[in-house]
Amino acid sequence: MNQILAHLSANEDVSLQQLLEFLAIGSVSTDPTRAGDVQHCATWLADHLRTIGMPTVEIHQTAGHPIVYAEHLGAGPDKPTVLMYGHYDVQPVDPIDLWTNPPFEPTLRDGKVFARGATDDKGQVFIHVKAVEAMLATSGSLPVNLKMLIEGEEEIGSPNLTPFVREHRERLACDAVVVSDTAMFAPGEPSIVYGLRGLAYLQIDVQGPNRDLHSGSYGGPVANPLNALCTIIGKMKDEQGRVTIPGFYDDVLDVSDQERAELAGLQYSDERLKGDVGVTALGGESGFSSVEKLWTRPTLDVNGIYGGFTGEGAKTVLPAKGMAKVSMRLVPHQEHHDIARKVQDFVNSITPPGITATVTDLHGADPVLVPRDAPAMHAAARALMRDEARIPPAIAVCNLAVEDAGDSFTLMVVEFFRGHEGDTDA
Ligand SMILES: [Zn+2]
Repeated sequence: MNQILAHLSANEDVSLQQLLEFLAIGSVSTDPTRAGDVQHCATWLADHLRTIGMPTVEIHQTAGHPIVYAEHLGAGPDKPTVLMYGHYDVQPVDPIDLWTNPPFEPTLRDGKVFARGATDDKGQVFIHVKAVEAMLATSGSLPVNLKMLIEGEEEIGSPNLTPFVREHRERLACDAVVVSDTAMFAPGEPSIVYGLRGLAYLQIDVQGPNRDLHSGSYGGPVANPLNALCTIIGKMKDEQGRVTIPGFYDDVLDVSDQERAELAGLQYSDERLKGDVGVTALGGESGFSSVEKLWTRPTLDVNGIYGGFTGEGAKTVLPAKGMAKVSMRLVPHQEHHDIARKVQDFVNSITPPGITATVTDLHGADPVLVPRDAPAMHAAARALMRDEARIPPAIAVCNLAVEDAGDSFTLMVVEFFRGHEGDTDA
């Protein structure tokens, strides 16, 4: 390990220059005029992986932007195989006038790199690349079999990743997946992310009379769909902030006392949260701390609501219809299709007479959880605890399990960062 750290130190300046070169490529995946830059970025990365000694490096063209794949399987069949996932594409740069330096002219200030992609995700990808380079340069080998999958479409929803993973299932097989594409709990505070909440996203349409009516002529006997919509939504939660949809909590995994104690030990400030979002009090499900609400409990939120007269002044319309978008963050072991059905049944059971309610399952994702006692998790924790020489210029190691769970390519993140803090995008 000392040799590896010495190698990293000795090559710090060169590595930094290479990182700045990588960051200077404007690989904005959503911008068609940048498609050439995205392609160039894939080529640059693949060339670099060859330079550091990865024996197999491939650029896979897709229906969209290319996927860079590399492998080093020299550790042999007795050693675990780790898949490293990352992305080399970046977010658009707007609003450009809020940047101190042009986003694709990486600039060092106070020992930090400012450029688009510096922390999402080129910086992290590059840390892995440099770690591999240092190991290969000092010992000629890696302690595990390594597969690297670095895509160019993460920022646009990875449309071609699932087909790629399906097609190359056997080739991508691994014991653990390492990802550095989440966040630290706080600057300088290493974090292992071992779960992600899922999502169920629904639209509720309500229909009352066959046309917009005048409330003076029809108000009273004719049920108002907007009132009905508000009643339906109002009945979805009780005064304790608990979701009242029957069966909603049936599959929710209880958090162990140990885990609750660990969460309680984090320096999470409700005051800071209130100040950050500009509210005088926090809400949500009673009986749980903010961290528990954020990470271990499901939610139900109205994301949009629309109907009737919304123009200036007054209009006494009794509207014909209304619509709301409602979504729920899910936790293990809730399933988004199951939750959507439960919402559907609940809405049907409470819809007032004279109103038709239609619930549409728009999209969703199931929550994921990495077992905390998995060997890869222990390895991640050991690496995180390592308290040897400083690791320049920054090192991020994460661990993530990928499963092709039927419908979707699901990433499960175990992440920890250490070393340099605050390299940032803007
Ligand atoms: Zn990212």
